[in-house]
Amino acid sequence: MDCIFCKIVRGEIPAKLVGETEYSIAFKDIAPRQPVHILIVPKNHSRDITELAAKDPDALVDLVRLGTKLAAEYSTGSFRLSFNTGAEAGQSVFHAHGHITSTTPKPVQ
Ligand code: 5GP
Ligand code: ZN
Repeated sequence: MDCIFCKIVRGEIPAKLVGETEYSIAFKDIAPRQPVHILIVPKNHSRDITELAAKDPDALVDLVRLGTKLAAEYSTGSFRLSFNTGAEAGQSVFHAHGHITSTTPKPVQ
């Protein structure tokens, strides 16, 4: 399938991976809009988060868990987890994904 996030999942396009589980991968957004900007992506293709919730609730729970774990690692604890759903809401990649964004990155130890 000609889907950019499926290609990243398959390793056909490089990405800065920051986490992986059985169901999900996480990588840095190519055009970060906050000091912390990580994308959490289910390995199996769904159009958006509503389709993922309907098709594979276990994958949705896993996505939220991986996102909150990475938010704790990369931010000081204040963050947003957001899902643009539909073109008019700003969705530009039609493979479900969550954005972890934070204005307060954790200082490097
Ligand atoms: P959306 O606008 O669909 O909610 O979010 C898609 C996000 O994917 C955008 O923030 C965009 O910067 C990011 N993005 C698009 N193409 C790539 C890519 O090839 N690699 C990475 N790492 N991020 C991408
Ligand atoms: Zn896909």
